[in-house]
Amino acid sequence: MSRLRLSSFLALLLAALPGIAASPPSSLTFSTDTKPLTVHFFDVGQGDAALIISPSGKTVLIDGGPPEARERLAARLRTLVTGPLDLAILTHPHLDHLGGLTAALRAVGAKRFMDPGFNHPSEAYKDLLGFVGDSVGQVMNPEPNPATPDSLLTIGLGEGVSLTVLWPRAPREPFLTGTRSDANSNSIVAKLTYGKTSFLLVGDAEPDTEAALLQRPLDLTATVLKVAHHGGRHSSTAAFLAAAKPQAAVISVGAKNDYGHPARETLERLDAVGAHVLRTDRDGEVIAASDGHSVTLRGNGGTGTLLVVPGNLKPGPIALGPVVPNPSRTQRGTVASVEPRNEDRDTSPDPTPPGERGTAASAGSSGPYVGLKNSKVFHRETCSTLKRSKSERTLYLNREAALRERRPAEDCHP
Ligand SMILES: [Zn+2]
Ligand SMILES: [Zn+2]
Repeated sequence: MSRLRLSSFLALLLAALPGIAASPPSSLTFSTDTKPLTVHFFDVGQGDAALIISPSGKTVLIDGGPPEARERLAARLRTLVTGPLDLAILTHPHLDHLGGLTAALRAVGAKRFMDPGFNHPSEAYKDLLGFVGDSVGQVMNPEPNPATPDSLLTIGLGEGVSLTVLWPRAPREPFLTGTRSDANSNSIVAKLTYGKTSFLLVGDAEPDTEAALLQRPLDLTATVLKVAHHGGRHSSTAAFLAAAKPQAAVISVGAKNDYGHPARETLERLDAVGAHVLRTDRDGEVIAASDGHSVTLRGNGGTGTLLVVPGNLKPGPIALGPVVPNPSRTQRGTVASVEPRNEDRDTSPDPTPPGERGTAASAGSSGPYVGLKNSKVFHRETCSTLKRSKSERTLYLNREAALRERRPAEDCHP
């Protein structure tokens, strides 16, 4: 096992160095046979935007940077992505994360969109939702499957790669309120895993988010941590970093920004847990490639930093027990896939006939149901997605009528 790890470790390192990768000895070619899982942390100035490309070519964009970065981001996506994104995630409705998202979606398209479903009054957010409602087929919230409410929502990206949403879990668990920034605190926190390697992508999570995650039975281990809130001083608490044990940390931050990000205290806390830090303000776009054993990170500009860190993820589920304490239940992760649409939320066989699914899941499922213009799905009338959309609606009095024209939405499972 250690031989395999060592050779793949070397092969990746060699592959990253031009000139040396041309003639690797045959014993070191392991990683060239398998496509890596790649995460691009774009240099968007003061904001966040990252693209996941799975070994099988699935693409997930997480955030779209600030408005100033929109052209650069769109151009970069056009070079990296062919066809629509499998999923676009907005971690939370702040302008430094959503400002370039519409341009990004216009540039390459997206099959699905997910955001926390946390209301925000800004025009920019309303405009984005309007655009998404008109142009993206599926709009989802990261809520757990009602059939397995104590498990986490996991999105399969093929080849054993999965993206698991750790927070938020509304309506199963209420949004965090009364925090420094409730929009930040309810950022989508997701863990991307591949073999022994993992990426913890935390948006602008606040200390309250970190405390909530620490209270839950979760494996927070991260080979690479996308540092919360551009390295702001409140987030990345010592307790959270002790649990995450990041080998490398990526800070998405603008050069000479007005906020003093990243904070000296945060850099010290990262240093104290042995995390090697890469920063988009100094290293440019940071590209991280995992072969399932180790992660190679390099800056695409500036310093030319190259770093290889070993995977530190133990095998096993991310949820170490029921996520909402309830000892009478047993827990298993909910596995979804971005490939077959009917299996989006759950690959386990569903014993309930299609017409009765809603009644088993929750009350109020007998209708009416609502479809939004330019969307192929229908929602429960109470779904929060409807409250956030300005699009024209079609009302269906029963599920059968809705099913004749549309398929059930993934957020409310009508
Ligand atoms: Zn924010
Ligand atoms: Zn931010």
